Amino acid sequence: MDVRANLDRIRSKLAAACERAGRGIDTVTLVSVSKGQPPETVRAAAELGLTIFGENRIQEAKAKISLCPNRLRWHMIGHLQTNKCREAVRLFDLIHSVDSLHLAAELDRCAERAAKTIRILLEVNVAGEASKYGYAPAQLLAELPELNRFRRLEIHGLMTMAPWSPDPEKARPVFRRLRKLQAECGSILGAPLSELSMGMSGDFEVAIEEGATLVRLGTALFGDRS
Ligand SMILES: *Cc1c(COP(=O)(O)O)cnc(C)c1O
Repeated sequence: MDVRANLDRIRSKLAAACERAGRGIDTVTLVSVSKGQPPETVRAAAELGLTIFGENRIQEAKAKISLCPNRLRWHMIGHLQTNKCREAVRLFDLIHSVDSLHLAAELDRCAERAAKTIRILLEVNVAGEASKYGYAPAQLLAELPELNRFRRLEIHGLMTMAPWSPDPEKARPVFRRLRKLQAECGSILGAPLSELSMGMSGDFEVAIEEGATLVRLGTALFGDRS
């Protein structure tokens, strides 16, 4: 797998999407999704200048992180169980997948104990797919004031996964809806949310056109997961 060639290709698509959207390229951060990849692959990617890696399982992440350079930053992008919050608080710089008050409360409690503040995103199931985690939009808006009360949690924005489709244009309305929801959340909170985590290997260019600030790329960068 030629990660360097993949990265070059991704960077030029990313730059072209930013250009189309009239955005600077530094407004989009690449999260390299290393789930299912061995630590050697992460170390090779780090040599190419990549610094932010996304994982979806605590056990896998914990083992991998200990074998990778200290300067790397790790994001939790998968569903988090409350019994894994303590580890999550220790390992991750940003948690993309907060999807309930119960989980937020447990993260807050673990962060308090660790004397830390935790950066989070709220995951939204925009398309209402039964197979996906995430807040229904109406429930998110209803619970937001309570979510905002946790002293050890900093809400930085929203995250979503679009339904799988071979046609990336199908994801556009989903991304547009998340952006609208971001604005609604900002007005409820009285301060704008800065991050929109949306777009994966198949649909990141559309996501950037619709305002993504974090794109999460696995297969486009590393090839198929074994
Ligand atoms: C696996 C995963 C990705 C990366 O998917 P690719 O299609 O391989 O780019 C992004 N986000 C989440 C939440 C994932 O679980």
